[in-house]
Amino acid sequence: MKGSQSRKKAARRLDTAYRTTLHQLTSRLAKTKSVVVIEDLNVAGMLKNHALALAISDVGWGAFRRQLTYKAAWYGCRVVVADRWEKSSKTCCQCGWVDEQLTLKDRVFRCQHPACGQVMDRDLNAATNLEQLAGSSPDRINARGEGSAGLGHPAQVKLPSLKQEPNAFSASA
Ligand SMILES: [Zn+2]
Repeated sequence: MKGSQSRKKAARRLDTAYRTTLHQLTSRLAKTKSVVVIEDLNVAGMLKNHALALAISDVGWGAFRRQLTYKAAWYGCRVVVADRWEKSSKTCCQCGWVDEQLTLKDRVFRCQHPACGQVMDRDLNAATNLEQLAGSSPDRINARGEGSAGLGHPAQVKLPSLKQEPNAFSASA
């Protein structure tokens, strides 16, 4: 087939580019953030950013997490792992009401609590919950570095996700 050779080459170049991107991303996060919250099983949240999606789905979520964890240890950043995306996604970040019916298809979180009624982008709601988790649950810190304990100012991390790309999750799962 004509062109299949150059297509292979192009694919290899892309592969290298993704790996580089992933390294740059994890380095940047580890160097510039004092805390990074990641969701344990979650590809969903991360894959909503298209550029990230390419990098992460190609090299793998495991590689992303591994890199982030060891780099965090180097640079004194904490990695907080939230164990279930459901919890952060289904809980209202304002009042704590839980939407048990929420599915991956629901892009907007609508709080049904009569005193709250917040309507918010689903991912933004989840990210806010994760931020609160980062600030309040030191026992869930997952970075192995000994040097990461002394940093006094937690939280304030948003993973660069949150642009919606509805097909990204199923495309990579
Ligand atoms: Zn609420």
